[in-house]
Amino acid sequence: MTDDTTAVELESRIRRRFRRSLHIRHLDSGSCNGCDWELNALLSPYYDVQRLGIDFVASPRHADLLLVTGVMTRNLADAAIKTYEAMPEPRLVVAVGACAVGGGVFASSYAAYGSAEALLPVDVFIPGCPPRPEAIIHGLLMAVGRL
Ligand code: SF4
Repeated sequence: MTDDTTAVELESRIRRRFRRSLHIRHLDSGSCNGCDWELNALLSPYYDVQRLGIDFVASPRHADLLLVTGVMTRNLADAAIKTYEAMPEPRLVVAVGACAVGGGVFASSYAAYGSAEALLPVDVFIPGCPPRPEAIIHGLLMAVGRL
C-alpha cells in the first residue's frame, strides 16, 4: 500500500471504535461497475484491507458501515432503505464515486434519484470516477473518525 500511515491510523481507529473490526455492506444502487472493481482491489494482496480488520459482509445485520456505489436508481430505492434500516447502531454510510456522491452523468435520468444522499444519511462522500483504492481507504478513515 502506498500510504501506510493512513492504513495504520485506520486500523487504530477501528480498534478504538469497533473493538476489533469494521464490517462493510456494499450496496450497488446503479453503478457501471467501475467503482465496484476498485472495491475488489481493496481485498487484493496489494491493499489487503482485511489486515486492518475490515471485511465485506453479505447481511446488513452484520454491518457497521453501508458503502454505496452508483447513482441511486428508483429501482433500488426500497432495497437501499431496507438495507440501512436493518443495520445495527451505530451505523455509517459512505458514498463512493461521482454517481453516489452527486448522481454523476445519470443525475438527471428519470430512472434515478441522483445522489445516495437523496435517501440515506451519508456521513462521508468519496469523489472520483472511479476513486482509487487509496481514496476509499482515506474515506473509511474519515467515516470511522465521525463516531
Ligand atoms: S462514479 Fe464512474 S466508475 Fe463509479 S459508478 Fe459512476 S460512472 Fe461508474
